[in-house]
Amino acid sequence: MIEAIQITDPDSIVSALKAVVGEDHVLTRPEDVEGYLTDWTGQYRAPALAVARPASTAEVAELIKLCNACNIAVVPQGGRTGLCGGGVPVAGRETLVVSLTRMNAVRSLDVDGRTVIAEAGVVLETLHDAALKHDLVFPLMFGAKGSCTIGGNLSTNAGGSNVVRYGNTRELCLGIEAVLPDGSVINALTGLRKDNTGYDLKDLLIGAEGTLGIITAAVFKLFPAPKARSTAFLSVAGLDSALKVLNRLQDHTGGGVEAFEYMPQPAVDVICKVFPAIRRPLEGKVATGILVEVASSRPHDAAEMQDGTIRLATEVTELLGELMEEGLVLDAMVAQSEQQRADLWKMREAILEAITENGPAHHLDLSLPLARIARFVGEMDAEMDRLGFQPLTVGHLGDGNLHYALSAAKGRDWDALPLETAKEKVFALLTELGGSFSAEHGIGQSKLAVMTKLKEPAQLDVMRSIKRALDPGNIINPGKLLPPG
Ligand SMILES: Cc1cc2nc3c(=O)[nH]c(=O)nc-3n(C[C@H](O)[C@H](O)[C@H](O)COP(=O)(O)OP(=O)(O)OC[C@H]3O[C@@H](n4cnc5c(N)ncnc54)[C@H](O)[C@@H]3O)c2cc1C
Repeated sequence: MIEAIQITDPDSIVSALKAVVGEDHVLTRPEDVEGYLTDWTGQYRAPALAVARPASTAEVAELIKLCNACNIAVVPQGGRTGLCGGGVPVAGRETLVVSLTRMNAVRSLDVDGRTVIAEAGVVLETLHDAALKHDLVFPLMFGAKGSCTIGGNLSTNAGGSNVVRYGNTRELCLGIEAVLPDGSVINALTGLRKDNTGYDLKDLLIGAEGTLGIITAAVFKLFPAPKARSTAFLSVAGLDSALKVLNRLQDHTGGGVEAFEYMPQPAVDVICKVFPAIRRPLEGKVATGILVEVASSRPHDAAEMQDGTIRLATEVTELLGELMEEGLVLDAMVAQSEQQRADLWKMREAILEAITENGPAHHLDLSLPLARIARFVGEMDAEMDRLGFQPLTVGHLGDGNLHYALSAAKGRDWDALPLETAKEKVFALLTELGGSFSAEHGIGQSKLAVMTKLKEPAQLDVMRSIKRALDPGNIINPGKLLPPG
C-alpha cells in the first residue's frame, strides 16, 4: 500500500512513482522535464521533482495517494496551450507534474445516442475526427485544437468560436470521471441527459483549472454534421450594427450562426504584417470586420440551386444584400469555395501568434453583455489611445467575448507605458458595465490579483470552503485560481 511506504528522500519518491506508472513514464532528467515546466505563453516556469505520465485512472489515483502521503503538490497537465500559467508548477513547493497525454483513448462512441466517451488526454482535433467519421460533430473549436486536450478544455471550460451556437465545454459535457484530491474516484460517465440527484460534481470540476481533482475521462454530446455552410467576411457600420446583423442572421437561418467573430482593422493589419502570405478579405479600410459562419445540417439547405449555388449560401447572400441596402453592412466577401473558407479561418486563428510576434502585449480576456460591447470598445479604445496603447482586439462577438490585447502604439516605448493605469481603466468600465475579467481562458496564476480585487468576496469564500473541504492538504494545483487569503 502506498500509505505504508516510508518516503524519506526524492530518490525514494521517484522510485515509488516508477512503481505506479512504470520506469519509462517518470521523467526526471532536466532535458526531459523542461518542456513540461511552461505553458504556451512561456511566462511562468518553476521546477518540478518529476513528470509522471499515467496510462489509467487507477494509476492517477495511486499517484495522488502517493503525493498526499509525501505532501507533494500535483499539477495536472494536458496540452500546455493554457494562457494563464495554470498547468505548470509554482515555486516553493515540491511538485509532481501529472501529464494526461498517455490517456488518449476515445473509449466509445454511441452513434444513436449521439455521445462520446473520451479520456482526458485526447487531443481536441482527434475527437473532431472521431465524430466526423460518423457524420457527427463535436463542436468545440479554436486555434489550439491540434494540441489542447479535452481534460484541459474541461478544466478551463474552454469556449472558442462556436459557443454562440453550442455553448462552452460545460454545456457540451454530460458527465466526467475524475480522481479527487484524496485519491478517490468519481465515475459519472452514464451520459444521462437528465440526472437530478443532488449537487452536480461535474460542474464543480469543470472550470476548476485542476484545483479540485484530475479529470480522467468525460462523456460529451455530439451533433449532426453541417451539410451546408456559408462563410463571409463583413465590413459592418459599427458594433451596434454588428449586433443587429447577428440577430437578423439568426432569425433568418433558425439560429444557424455558428461563429460571429469580431476582427477590426488593427487586428487584420497585424496579422497581414506578421504573415504576409495571408490576404486581406476586403480591400480598403474595414473598421468593424466580422467573420461570420452559418451552417445547417438540413438536406434542404444543402440542395443545389439552378445556378449551381447551395441554397443556404444563396439565402445568406440575399440577406447580406438586404443588410447592405439598409446600411448595416458596408461590404462583404462571401467564401466561394472550401479553400476561401479555410483562408478566412486561417486568418482568424493566426491572431494570437501574430500579436505575440508583433511585440510586447498584455492580453485581456473580457466578456460583456452584448448590448454594452459597443460602448465599452468605443470608450476604451479612445482611452487606450490617449495612454499610448494600440488595442489589438478580436472577439467571439456572438457570445460577448473580447480578447482585448494592449500593445504599444506606433512610436511608443512599451516599457514606458502606464500598463497598470490602463488595466485599472479597463476593469473600472468593465465592472460598471457588468462584465467579467475572465471570459474563457481562466485565472491560473496570471489573474490572481484581479480575482482578489473584483471577484465578489462571498463567492470567493465559498470557493475557498469547497477547496478546503475537498483538498485540505492543498495538494492539487496549489497557487492557481484561488488567490491566497
Ligand atoms: C492559439 C491558441 C488559441 C486559443 N484559443 C482559445 C479559445 O478560443 N478559447 C478558449 O477557451 N481557449 C483558447 N486557448 C487556450 C487553451 O487552448 C485552452 O485553455 C485549452 O482548453 C487548454 O487545454 P490544454 O490541454 O492545453 O490544457 P493545459 O494548458 O495543459 O492546462 C490548462 C489548465 O487545465 C488543467 N488541466 C489540464 N488537464 C487537466 C485534467 N485532466 N484534469 C484537471 N485539470 C487539468 C491544468 O492544470 C491547467 O490549470 C487558446 C490557446 C492558444 C495557444
